[in-house]
Amino acid sequence: MGRYDGRVAVITGAARGIGFGIATRLAEEGASVAVVDLDESAASEAAGRLPLADGAKAVGIGADISDGAAVDAAIARVVEELGGIHVLVNNAGITRDNLLFKMTEDDWDLVMGVHLKGAFLMTKAAQKHFVEQKYGKILNLSSVSALGNRGQANYSAAKMGVQGFTRTLGIELGPFGVNANAIAPGFIATEMTDATAARLKMDVEEFRKLNAEANPVRRVGFPEDIAAAAAFLCSDEASYITGQTLYVDGGAKLG
Ligand code: NAP
Repeated sequence: MGRYDGRVAVITGAARGIGFGIATRLAEEGASVAVVDLDESAASEAAGRLPLADGAKAVGIGADISDGAAVDAAIARVVEELGGIHVLVNNAGITRDNLLFKMTEDDWDLVMGVHLKGAFLMTKAAQKHFVEQKYGKILNLSSVSALGNRGQANYSAAKMGVQGFTRTLGIELGPFGVNANAIAPGFIATEMTDATAARLKMDVEEFRKLNAEANPVRRVGFPEDIAAAAAFLCSDEASYITGQTLYVDGGAKLG
């Protein structure tokens, strides 16, 4: 018996990185999974690599989560092809880093569009089903950058916004059997942090090593670290936890 037997999970930005890590873990625990990502072929390819349990299914869906019509169509496809929806993980994300004085309006709008508007649109489309069936789990990806990070005024504002959004979902949807929580990861080794290394003109391994040395637990994080916390927070074992943000960062922000 897996904790997610008979459940359908939708995970945005799950073609790679943290999203794919969460999709893999939930599939291992019995879930059917919809991998939603910008590129449908990448989403389908990732869905095809998931370790599904007997009877579970996976589908890859191409959708830009900052587009309301695309989001509604994606949720409709999930319900039609996988037979329902029980878990939503708002994971898709982008960075457009720059110091404030060099940050463009586009850099601001793009980051807000994916992290905040995207999570809003996906959650609004999914909650109809959650409220109707009096069951649902929402997990939003915040970041340690929510606490402030040089060069990330847009991303930091969006990620703290995600925490406020999560608390409000907890208040509004709790009476309907829906839990909403957030995870704020620290440095996780993915293409997102590899791109940061490239922008800083640093070797990826050297960048990871420096980040590991600066961390209290002396290592960087991996998608599996976030997936383990996600699998708990979206499970029925966490049904008395809502509106919370769990920092999964090796103690990076402890002092
Ligand atoms: P990643 O490797 O860059 O993966 C992000 C995925 O999201 C990509 O597949 C990307 O597709 C997809 N995506 C981007 N915009 C989208 C949109 N509008 N609609 C649908 N999909 C979209 O990132 P990650 O490192 O796994 O990060 C996952 C989440 O964790 C993000 O919310 C990120 O902000 C957060 N986070 C990451 C870290 C870290 O250290 N890695 C730390 C804290 C928080 P394309 O490839 O086609 O662009």
